[in-house]
Amino acid sequence: MQKNLVTIVTGGGRGIGRAIALRMSALTSVIVVGRTEADLLAVCAEIQALGGQAAHCVGDVADPGTAQATIDLAASHGWTIRNLVCNAGIGKGGPLHTFSPEMWQKMFHVNVHGTFHFIRACLPAMIEQKNGSISIISSTAGLKGHKNDAAYSATKFALVGLAQSLADEVKKHNITVVPLCPGFVETDMTRRTVAGLVTHRKMTEAEAEALLASVNPQGRILQPEEIAEAVAYCATTRDPKVSGTPMELTTWSEPRVLQLVNWVREHAAPAKKLFIPISGGSDSALAFYLCARAYPEKVTGIFVGSPSKLRARAWFESIAPVLYLKAPRKSKKTEAEHSAAHAEIARWATFLELSNASGAWLVGSRNHTEEYTGLYSLASRVATFLPLANVWKSDVMTLCDIVGVPPEVTASSRRADPDCGRPQTLAEIPLEAIDTYLKVRTGELPDAAIEAIGAGQIEYLRRTIDQNQFKRSLPTKGPRLLV
Ligand code: NAP
Repeated sequence: MQKNLVTIVTGGGRGIGRAIALRMSALTSVIVVGRTEADLLAVCAEIQALGGQAAHCVGDVADPGTAQATIDLAASHGWTIRNLVCNAGIGKGGPLHTFSPEMWQKMFHVNVHGTFHFIRACLPAMIEQKNGSISIISSTAGLKGHKNDAAYSATKFALVGLAQSLADEVKKHNITVVPLCPGFVETDMTRRTVAGLVTHRKMTEAEAEALLASVNPQGRILQPEEIAEAVAYCATTRDPKVSGTPMELTTWSEPRVLQLVNWVREHAAPAKKLFIPISGGSDSALAFYLCARAYPEKVTGIFVGSPSKLRARAWFESIAPVLYLKAPRKSKKTEAEHSAAHAEIARWATFLELSNASGAWLVGSRNHTEEYTGLYSLASRVATFLPLANVWKSDVMTLCDIVGVPPEVTASSRRADPDCGRPQTLAEIPLEAIDTYLKVRTGELPDAAIEAIGAGQIEYLRRTIDQNQFKRSLPTKGPRLLV
């Protein structure tokens, strides 16, 4: 947390802006801007209650004086402007010929000119520091126009163009400019869209909500916190591929992926290098991907064996460099040393030796499901400096699909794995059913959810977990997924 730096969030009093202000307050001080003082004060109080620093500026973003007052306020607190989030915006739909010139202009004054005023006011401080980020909340309407949305869409397209051009202009100053393009988000603005559909299209509220959800690439209405997570990523990355590129909050920029990437960034910052053992399984593939996203310059995948033995080798090598290590030298072994468990321990000893010699952190991956079932080998538990955990196995599978892990890797997660202690019977129970059982057991799902699982499978899972009680030694770390 760098309290001497500040993030300015326009429209920070409610909706997406409020969530962004709260999220960014974990990284810097925050100034929220808007016209409704009561909302701004409430957000500042929330941030202060969380131990953060916040101030507010009342004003209309369409007025250049508001931007000037905001940077004066930052200066009066001794805060240096590091991040700007241009979020304040208004929307109104309807056939274009029904728009008055005044309404058309108002949309541009708030959405586009307001963004310009704030960028113009904040850029000199960022250029002087040679560091900064500008996140501009555009919309999916800034990428594709839909009927009865011409004015809003025109403003949101303008923001994407502004961001792309500016990103190119300020990259020499180490400033990132990202236009974020979310679909429908659960805020007052979306509630107004729902109300409009109910009134004009004679839909029920549930039908209107389902329609909006179906338009979103995720098939559901997003939560404001998800956009906030994406902004936190944009504010901290200096990846040149990210600057100027519309962030659609799908694939690699799915908020759930970004949440984990942000977590790695925040926790692995002191590491010189990150070594990620990759076995060709889904957990390690996801860990490798997330770490490479978080720290492309620090990450190396490590694998014991020849390159031809690594499943989906081309995919792994397309993400980050991979180091192939020789298996530990074979000597005369006792019978116990021939076991799979011993081979696993020997592998991790090799990884540890390499990490220690290189001053690197070793990153282990284990999912929440297997924490509960206790099926991680002892070696992988012991030899983990930065564990990526607390994600259910079914989430791991979804995230792997999102980031493009090849199916041959994810398929192996459904098979029995004697090395990890996963027997055939357990492998026959779908991962999703195992997660449902565990979520009921931990209170995350209601008892009724268990009805989807057969009695025999429930009994088997109960016994597996009880038998493995003693193995569940490590606390789980990492973020709980947003959704
Ligand atoms: P919202 O709930 O209506 O909140 C809008 C915020 O902007 C409020 O804090 C409002 O505060 C502020 N604002 C509006 N006009 C302003 C002005 N002239 N000067 C200063 N502040 C002003 O909207 P939201 O859904 O959070 O949307 C935030 C941004 O995300 C908008 O740019 C919107 O276009 C974009 N977006 C929203 C969605 C969605 O589905 N909700 C999807 C994609 C993109 P005051 O009224 O107090 O000034």
